[in-house]
Formats: sequence, structure tokens, C-alpha cells
Amino acid sequence: METRLRAGEVVTETPEAHDAGLLFIGRICTPWTRREDCPRQGRLDGPDCRIEVFEPWQAALEGIGAYAHLELLYWLDRSRRDLVRQNPKGDGTRYFGTFALRSPQRPNPIGTSQVRLVAVEPGALVVRGLDCLDGTPLIDIKPDRCEFTPKAPMKPADG
Ligand code: SAM
Repeated sequence: METRLRAGEVVTETPEAHDAGLLFIGRICTPWTRREDCPRQGRLDGPDCRIEVFEPWQAALEGIGAYAHLELLYWLDRSRRDLVRQNPKGDGTRYFGTFALRSPQRPNPIGTSQVRLVAVEPGALVVRGLDCLDGTPLIDIKPDRCEFTPKAPMKPADG
């Protein structure tokens, strides 16, 4: 867990009660075990990373091979969740509100990446474009929004 505070950073008390529950649907295996080695944002030409999908969700991968790119959502589980104001450079000069950053330190530490689908294996995917530590919990997989066309009928509001 990240515990260090930089000069001028502001934390708040976080409530005990949670508003929603999440299911970790898998685990992300990456080459990075230390935060300082991890890229700040993944690159589509980055290293192969393996997405292991837990049962009973492996059947939910059906059809995913039709997409060249996916959006992944993951839980940045080693983040602190109480930062309101951050000093990303650690130099005590420039501050940003948490919601003006893509920092992993946020009340709900959800990370998102657009990734390239390299291979589909039984119960697993190989992708490129990630920026998370080895063992980061996976919370969702979606087809890339540009490649996806709705499978359900149009609704009047769709124009
Ligand atoms: N691409 C995602 C996004 O924009 O939502 C995440 C960006 S975040 C800046 C990526 C950084 O989070 C990494 O460089 C690393 O320092 C940190 N990080 C990666 N995995 C983490 C984890 N499991 N828990 C806490 N911090 C993590």
C-alpha cells in the first residue's frame, strides 16, 4: 500500500461503509513488481501481459476474439484512497485535485487501459498496453468502444 504523503498533499477521512461491492473476476500478470518500474500509462507496443480470468467467468470470454482492442478495468489495490489534493512531482510547487489526475491514489482506485488483444487462451487473454503491478485484480473487460457495434436493437434515443 502507498502510504507516503508529499509536501502539501491533503487527505480526508474515508467512510467505513461502502456504497457498492465489486467482484474481482481475474488477475493481471505483468512483468512489474515495483511501482517505480511500472509505466505511468501502458503502450500498445509494451510487453505481453496475461489476463487470468477466474471461474465462473471464463465462459464470459465467448466472442472476445472478434476484437483487436479491449478496454480493461482493474483495481489498483496498493493505492491509498484518502487523497484529495496531490503533488505529483513531489516538489511542493504544483497541486492538483485527485479528479484532475489519472493518479492511482483515488477514493475508488479503478485503473483503465485500452489494450491490444494478442491471443485468446482457455480462461486467459494475452494483451499489450498495461501499466499495472503484477497480481493487480481485474474488475471488467469490454470490447473497444470504436470497434463495438451494439448487438441489441436500437432505442429511440439512439437517433
Ligand atoms: N492506465 C490507468 C488509468 O489511467 O486509469 C492507470 C494509470 S496509473 C497512473 C499507473 C500507475 O499506477 C503505475 O505507474 C504505478 O505507479 C501504479 N500502480 C500500478 N499498479 C498498481 C496497483 N496494483 N496498486 C497501486 N498502484 C499501482
